[in-house]
Amino acid sequence: MQSQGNDDEDLRLLNNSVYIGLGSNMGNRFAHIEKAISDIKHGLQTEILAVSSIYETSPVGVENQPDFLNCVCLLKTTLEPRQILNKLLEIEKSHGRSCSSMNLPRTLDLDILLYGELALNEPGLIVPHPRVTERAFVLIPLAEISPNLTHNLWERTVTEILESSTFTDKVEKVDNVRWN
Ligand code: AMP
Repeated sequence: MQSQGNDDEDLRLLNNSVYIGLGSNMGNRFAHIEKAISDIKHGLQTEILAVSSIYETSPVGVENQPDFLNCVCLLKTTLEPRQILNKLLEIEKSHGRSCSSMNLPRTLDLDILLYGELALNEPGLIVPHPRVTERAFVLIPLAEISPNLTHNLWERTVTEILESSTFTDKVEKVDNVRWN
Protein backbone atom coordinates (compact mmCIF):
# COMPACT_ATOMS: atom_id res chain seq x y z
CA MET A 1 0.00 0.00 0.00
CA GLN A 2 1.31 3.45 -0.90
CA SER A 3 0.55 5.97 1.78
CA GLN A 4 1.37 9.55 2.58
CA GLY A 5 1.75 10.52 6.22
CA ASN A 6 1.80 7.00 7.75
CA ASP A 7 4.07 4.15 6.85
CA ASP A 8 2.78 0.59 6.69
CA GLU A 9 4.28 -0.27 10.05
CA ASP A 10 2.33 2.55 11.71
CA LEU A 11 -0.87 1.37 10.06
CA ARG A 12 -0.54 -2.09 11.53
CA LEU A 13 0.05 -0.69 15.01
CA LEU A 14 -2.58 2.01 15.12
CA ASN A 15 -6.18 1.49 16.02
CA ASN A 16 -7.51 3.85 13.40
CA SER A 17 -10.66 5.95 13.56
CA VAL A 18 -12.57 5.19 10.40
CA TYR A 19 -15.66 6.99 9.16
CA ILE A 20 -17.98 5.13 6.78
CA GLY A 21 -20.70 6.80 4.73
CA LEU A 22 -23.89 4.83 4.07
CA GLY A 23 -26.61 5.54 1.51
CA SER A 24 -29.63 3.81 0.01
CA ASN A 25 -32.30 4.89 -2.48
CA MET A 26 -33.78 1.55 -3.58
CA GLY A 27 -36.07 -0.92 -1.85
CA ASN A 28 -36.59 -0.56 1.90
CA ARG A 29 -33.99 2.15 2.36
CA PHE A 30 -34.10 2.18 6.14
CA ALA A 31 -33.82 -1.62 6.37
CA HIS A 32 -30.76 -1.56 4.10
CA ILE A 33 -29.05 1.10 6.22
CA GLU A 34 -29.93 -0.57 9.52
CA LYS A 35 -28.75 -4.00 8.35
CA ALA A 36 -25.59 -2.50 6.85
CA ILE A 37 -24.59 -1.07 10.24
CA SER A 38 -24.85 -4.54 11.71
CA ASP A 39 -23.05 -6.07 8.68
CA ILE A 40 -20.19 -3.60 9.11
CA LYS A 41 -19.92 -4.41 12.81
CA HIS A 42 -19.75 -8.15 12.15
CA GLY A 43 -17.82 -8.03 8.87
CA LEU A 44 -15.09 -5.80 10.26
CA GLN A 45 -15.28 -7.44 13.69
CA THR A 46 -15.45 -4.10 15.44
CA GLU A 47 -17.65 -1.99 17.66
CA ILE A 48 -19.51 0.88 16.05
CA LEU A 49 -18.61 3.89 18.20
CA ALA A 50 -21.09 6.39 16.80
CA VAL A 51 -23.86 6.55 14.21
CA SER A 52 -25.33 9.83 12.99
CA SER A 53 -28.99 10.49 12.51
CA ILE A 54 -30.46 9.34 9.23
CA TYR A 55 -30.99 12.08 6.66
CA GLU A 56 -33.25 12.09 3.64
CA THR A 57 -31.31 13.70 0.81
CA SER A 58 -31.86 14.65 -2.78
CA PRO A 59 -29.80 12.74 -5.36
CA VAL A 60 -26.71 14.54 -6.61
CA GLY A 61 -25.60 14.19 -10.22
CA VAL A 62 -28.44 12.27 -11.88
CA GLU A 63 -31.55 13.89 -10.43
CA ASN A 64 -34.32 11.72 -11.91
CA GLN A 65 -34.19 9.04 -9.19
CA PRO A 66 -35.57 8.54 -5.66
CA ASP A 67 -34.25 10.42 -2.64
CA PHE A 68 -31.58 8.74 -0.57
CA LEU A 69 -31.35 7.95 3.09
CA ASN A 70 -27.82 8.70 4.28
CA CYS A 71 -25.88 8.47 7.51
CA VAL A 72 -22.30 8.05 8.68
CA CYS A 73 -20.76 5.82 11.32
CA LEU A 74 -17.49 5.80 13.23
CA LEU A 75 -15.51 2.74 14.17
CA LYS A 76 -11.98 1.83 15.17
CA THR A 77 -10.08 -0.90 13.42
CA THR A 78 -6.62 -2.26 12.76
CA LEU A 79 -7.73 -3.46 9.31
CA GLU A 80 -6.02 -1.71 6.44
CA PRO A 81 -8.07 0.46 4.05
CA ARG A 82 -8.05 -2.08 1.21
CA GLN A 83 -9.31 -4.79 3.57
CA ILE A 84 -12.11 -2.49 4.69
CA LEU A 85 -13.02 -1.60 1.09
CA ASN A 86 -13.21 -5.29 0.14
CA LYS A 87 -15.53 -5.97 3.09
CA LEU A 88 -17.71 -3.00 2.17
CA LEU A 89 -17.97 -4.18 -1.45
CA GLU A 90 -19.01 -7.64 -0.19
CA ILE A 91 -21.68 -6.08 2.01
CA GLU A 92 -22.99 -3.94 -0.86
CA LYS A 93 -23.24 -7.08 -3.00
CA SER A 94 -25.08 -8.97 -0.26
CA HIS A 95 -27.69 -6.19 -0.33
CA GLY A 96 -28.32 -6.93 -3.98
CA ARG A 97 -26.43 -3.96 -5.32
CA SER A 98 -25.95 -4.45 -9.02
CA CYS A 99 -25.30 -1.04 -10.52
CA SER A 100 -21.71 -0.20 -11.22
CA SER A 101 -22.06 3.40 -12.34
CA MET A 102 -21.77 6.41 -10.09
CA ASN A 103 -24.87 8.47 -9.35
CA LEU A 104 -27.41 5.74 -10.18
CA PRO A 105 -30.01 4.23 -7.79
CA ARG A 106 -28.56 1.68 -5.41
CA THR A 107 -29.80 -0.52 -2.59
CA LEU A 108 -26.66 0.29 -0.64
CA ASP A 109 -23.64 2.52 -1.12
CA LEU A 110 -20.78 2.30 1.37
CA ASP A 111 -17.79 4.63 1.26
CA ILE A 112 -14.67 4.96 3.37
CA LEU A 113 -14.83 8.66 4.15
CA LEU A 114 -11.78 8.98 6.39
CA TYR A 115 -9.19 6.67 7.83
CA GLY A 116 -7.43 8.62 10.60
CA GLU A 117 -4.97 11.07 9.10
CA LEU A 118 -4.15 8.73 6.23
CA ALA A 119 -4.05 10.17 2.71
CA LEU A 120 -4.13 7.48 0.04
CA ASN A 121 -4.60 7.55 -3.72
CA GLU A 122 -4.45 4.13 -5.33
CA PRO A 123 -6.38 2.60 -8.22
CA GLY A 124 -9.92 2.08 -6.91
CA LEU A 125 -9.27 3.59 -3.49
CA ILE A 126 -8.96 7.24 -2.53
CA VAL A 127 -8.93 8.31 1.13
CA PRO A 128 -10.21 10.72 2.35
CA HIS A 129 -13.06 10.09 -0.07
CA PRO A 130 -12.69 12.90 -2.62
CA ARG A 131 -16.31 14.01 -2.36
CA VAL A 132 -16.51 14.36 1.45
CA THR A 133 -15.98 18.11 1.42
CA GLU A 134 -18.29 18.65 -1.58
CA ARG A 135 -21.39 16.87 -0.33
CA ALA A 136 -23.78 18.26 2.26
CA PHE A 137 -25.25 14.76 2.78
CA VAL A 138 -21.82 13.64 4.05
CA LEU A 139 -20.65 16.79 5.87
CA ILE A 140 -23.86 17.27 7.85
CA PRO A 141 -23.93 13.80 9.47
CA LEU A 142 -20.15 13.91 9.96
CA ALA A 143 -20.40 17.26 11.75
CA GLU A 144 -23.24 15.86 13.84
CA ILE A 145 -21.12 13.07 15.35
CA SER A 146 -17.66 14.72 15.18
CA PRO A 147 -17.97 18.51 14.82
CA ASN A 148 -14.24 19.08 15.31
CA LEU A 149 -13.18 16.37 12.87
CA THR A 150 -10.47 17.49 10.49
CA HIS A 151 -7.80 16.11 8.18
CA ASN A 152 -4.46 17.68 7.35
CA LEU A 153 -5.50 17.85 3.67
CA TRP A 154 -8.43 20.09 4.63
CA GLU A 155 -6.90 22.45 7.24
CA ARG A 156 -10.42 23.09 8.60
CA THR A 157 -12.94 21.17 10.64
CA VAL A 158 -16.00 19.63 8.99
CA THR A 159 -18.13 22.25 10.78
CA GLU A 160 -16.04 25.08 9.35
CA ILE A 161 -16.21 23.58 5.86
CA LEU A 162 -19.97 23.25 6.22
CA GLU A 163 -20.40 26.80 7.48
CA SER A 164 -18.42 28.26 4.59
CA SER A 165 -20.31 26.26 1.94
CA THR A 166 -23.53 27.16 0.16
CA PHE A 167 -25.33 23.86 -0.36
CA THR A 168 -28.82 23.90 -1.78
CA ASP A 169 -29.47 20.13 -1.85
CA LYS A 170 -32.12 18.73 0.48
CA VAL A 171 -30.62 17.13 3.62
CA GLU A 172 -33.41 16.58 6.17
CA LYS A 173 -33.01 14.69 9.42
CA VAL A 174 -35.46 11.78 9.64
CA ASP A 175 -37.04 11.83 13.08
CA ASN A 176 -38.02 8.89 15.25
CA VAL A 177 -35.37 6.50 14.00
CA ARG A 178 -34.28 4.15 16.74
CA TRP A 179 -31.05 2.15 16.63
CA ASN A 180 -31.17 -1.12 18.51
P1 AMP B 1 -19.51 4.38 -5.97
O1 AMP B 1 -20.25 4.55 -7.25
O2 AMP B 1 -19.27 5.67 -5.24
O3 AMP B 1 -20.10 3.37 -5.06
O4 AMP B 1 -18.05 3.85 -6.38
C1 AMP B 1 -17.59 2.58 -6.01
C2 AMP B 1 -16.11 2.44 -6.30
O5 AMP B 1 -15.40 3.57 -5.82
C3 AMP B 1 -15.54 1.25 -5.56
O6 AMP B 1 -15.55 0.11 -6.39
C4 AMP B 1 -14.16 1.68 -5.18
O7 AMP B 1 -13.17 1.01 -5.94
C5 AMP B 1 -14.10 3.16 -5.50
N1 AMP B 1 -13.59 3.94 -4.37
C6 AMP B 1 -12.55 4.82 -4.43
N2 AMP B 1 -12.33 5.37 -3.24
C7 AMP B 1 -13.27 4.85 -2.39
C8 AMP B 1 -13.54 5.04 -1.01
N3 AMP B 1 -12.85 5.90 -0.24
N4 AMP B 1 -14.57 4.33 -0.47
C9 AMP B 1 -15.31 3.48 -1.23
N5 AMP B 1 -15.09 3.26 -2.54
C10 AMP B 1 -14.07 3.93 -3.12
